[in-house]
Amino acid sequence: MSSAPAPAAAPSVIARPWVVIKFGGTSVSRRERWENIRRIAAAHRARDRRVVIVVSALSGITDQLKAIAESRGDDARCREVQAAIVERHQAMRAELGLDGCARMEQRLADLDRLIADPRRAQAAVAWQAEVFALGELMSSALGADFLDANGLPTQWLDAREHLRATPIANHSAWARYLSANVPAAPDAQFASALAARGDCFITQGFIARNDQAETVLLGRGGSDTSAGYFGALLKAEQVEIWTDVPGMFSANPRVVPEARLLARLDYEEAQEIATTGAKVLHPRSLGPLRRAGVPLVIKDTHRPQLAGTEIRAVAADAAPCVKAISARKGVTLISMETVGMWQQVGFLADVFEAFKRHGLSVDLIGSAETNVTVSLDPTENLVNSDVLSALAADLARICRVKVIAPCAAITLVGRGMRSLLHKLSGVLAEFGALDVHLISQSSNNLNLTFVVDEALADDLIPRLHALLIRADALRAEDGAVFGPSWRELGADAAAPVRETWWMRERSALLELAAERTPRYVYSLEAVRAQARALRALGAVDRWHYALKANPHPAILRALHEEGFAFECVSTAEIDAVRSALPQLAVERILFTPNFAPREEYAQALAAGVRTTLDALHPLQHWGELFRDREIHLRLDLGVGRGHHDKVKTGGASSKFGLALDQVEEFRTLARRHGARIVGLHAHLGSGILDAGHWRAVYAQLASLAEGFSRIESIDVGGGLGVPSRPDETPLDLAALGAALAEVKSAYPQFHLWLEPGRFLVADAGVLLARVTQVKRKGAVHYVGVDAGMNSLIRPALYEAWHEIVNLTRLGEPAQTMVQVVGPICETGDVLGANRRLPECREGDVILIAQAGAYGAVMASRYNLREPATEDVR
Ligand code: ADP
Ligand code: ASP
Ligand code: MG
Repeated sequence: MSSAPAPAAAPSVIARPWVVIKFGGTSVSRRERWENIRRIAAAHRARDRRVVIVVSALSGITDQLKAIAESRGDDARCREVQAAIVERHQAMRAELGLDGCARMEQRLADLDRLIADPRRAQAAVAWQAEVFALGELMSSALGADFLDANGLPTQWLDAREHLRATPIANHSAWARYLSANVPAAPDAQFASALAARGDCFITQGFIARNDQAETVLLGRGGSDTSAGYFGALLKAEQVEIWTDVPGMFSANPRVVPEARLLARLDYEEAQEIATTGAKVLHPRSLGPLRRAGVPLVIKDTHRPQLAGTEIRAVAADAAPCVKAISARKGVTLISMETVGMWQQVGFLADVFEAFKRHGLSVDLIGSAETNVTVSLDPTENLVNSDVLSALAADLARICRVKVIAPCAAITLVGRGMRSLLHKLSGVLAEFGALDVHLISQSSNNLNLTFVVDEALADDLIPRLHALLIRADALRAEDGAVFGPSWRELGADAAAPVRETWWMRERSALLELAAERTPRYVYSLEAVRAQARALRALGAVDRWHYALKANPHPAILRALHEEGFAFECVSTAEIDAVRSALPQLAVERILFTPNFAPREEYAQALAAGVRTTLDALHPLQHWGELFRDREIHLRLDLGVGRGHHDKVKTGGASSKFGLALDQVEEFRTLARRHGARIVGLHAHLGSGILDAGHWRAVYAQLASLAEGFSRIESIDVGGGLGVPSRPDETPLDLAALGAALAEVKSAYPQFHLWLEPGRFLVADAGVLLARVTQVKRKGAVHYVGVDAGMNSLIRPALYEAWHEIVNLTRLGEPAQTMVQVVGPICETGDVLGANRRLPECREGDVILIAQAGAYGAVMASRYNLREPATEDVR
């Protein structure tokens, strides 16, 4: 019978490739992440790709389901965990803005039913698989409804209808149900049948079905494997694993902050890194993709702009090099000593027969004349005490058995490991100092593994990683393979979370910069916000603004309106306050100079300004000036504090304050001239982030003050820190308030004064500059800007760290490591060293943040370059 040729599939069906995108537990646990998922999927759709989204359960849910799966008779625990699971999913549904989610409700009912199932008492593995599967069934149900409701029509797909597991010979029941395998190869029929149904699907990771139509699992972490299977079946253009780190690193980045991103890997190396412990990718996910020739990319759901790791067939670099160091914990070693004759024929066969009988697959093997030691990998085996004692009983018939656990297998991975041995002497010396149970070198020349006690691993890995870089075995400078370190990427990660005023006002700032640069711009709103936060602390009787930080008249006026008095260190500062605020009561000004000339004291006193002395000299030589005056005394409590030596203002090496051993002499001189000491003051330094500091200063000054007769106020100085680097924790204002209230209640007779400067204005100011030139010297990239150390001297003077962004390209991937430098003829004219910025071009606007304090006021005309001008918003 002749048949008409089948109608050709519509060209679009053939031409539109599939992309499989998998999101792990943390990537599906918050609404903002789901918004990213929607964007990522929509971007693929916009490029005319068909999309399969594979999701894990919400983070932590699989562990909770495991608690139920293993609860056996413990009903109370079981119900408690069930309630938590229900609550979490309902909360997630609400967070996603869904009124209901029928598919999810049905799974919650299934959970209830499964808990009541008599199979729970035995923890039957088939029943366990059904329990575990609910996590992914529910997260995918929520995701389908969310995406559908938010403009991305998405169909829900039951993964079990498409992933069919086949049993592997000798696998235990545990492995067949809870760690099953699916033989997945490109299937054009499946691909076109799915294409006929739609363009965008969401399905579950982790689950499949066996030949009896029962639910089975793909092993813990197996959602990656599901993505691999779907990618192979559909012969996808690409599989993307979206997770909570921006790729595969040279070590677990959470243990080794210096671990480097692996930009490109071939399948074999990536497979080896995954197998030897890098949890970021399940070891079974790559096999099907490699066979089908599908590339895999690992990316960060929270930071989609980062490039991630690309795994494909072509090696970027064939030269031998260590790519990663990984660790697997929970490894069990079985050491078997022959009891019979040396090299007894068939001994190994007998030993391995026992492992086979118990369904255990062996990982590493070490052998000696009379001993064989093997390791069992917990991810591939059910290694519990029942299984181990049954195995040991069997083995005892042929050998002496010793079980060594828990161990960690630490592995160096890289192509051509044997030719690298000469570079590993440092690493070997580290292991030499430890009790190494087993060393194994893989026959594919890709790894070298050391098994040690588990407790040693966490300390050892960062040390080994550093040694590998130092020995040039891990060639971190090779940009074709290695990207930035986790620490460097972390700096980028923290920045966007904190939304600053200048991010919100970006376009206005760009307009200002288009008129003229360099220029400082201050936000009065930001100044006021800081002022209000401080004024909310009840224990302080009077706040002074230390105006040396920024005496801009608009800032002085704003702070006056916020209830601040002023602390000046020169008569010019007093004049600045009085001209900005002509109505200001003069007693609202505190004058605290240091080594100022006689005339300045005379002027201040004549104007009725409160004046602080911090040396004997004025009373010894100009005593008449102070006759019948009230004066304040600044003391040196003997220590300095602060973010840099140059800002510490206590101790003998600092020029400020009267030494405590001169207090008596000072009092005698004051009495002689009829001057009354009404206030004590100490200021130990700047950039203090510890809330307890000012309590300690108050307590010290207050106890000293009790020895005087007329002290009214205690001024504990300023120095309230503002974090600059993303990893610094801000000053805890609530804790500061509590600490001050506590000490104030111990000495209620004194007024408590504080005098912050930088805290009020640092974040309120930015310096805008423009890129003048870019330059590369060897591996070092320079970005030159038109603001130099003559506009902002803090980096050169205090090694201060200021956040620097390319405002023109804000949000673009920041991949290039650069030195941001100014135009001044000084090697120290560096505004920021080793910063990651997007590719900068001449004319781009660069923003230097946190420049509101000690910026413009410290500027100079060095090189006869005019410093940045100032504007207020
Ligand atoms: P998901 O839930 O998205 O599947 P996983 O927790 O399974 O995420 O995997 C990501 C985690 O893998 C990272 O948070 C990291 O702690 C860990 N990890 C271990 N080794 C590595 C490595 N070499 N590179 C990257 N991540 C690693
Ligand atoms: N939810 C499963 C687990 O936690 C599978 C996965 O997330 O990859 O193991
Ligand atoms: Mg995972």
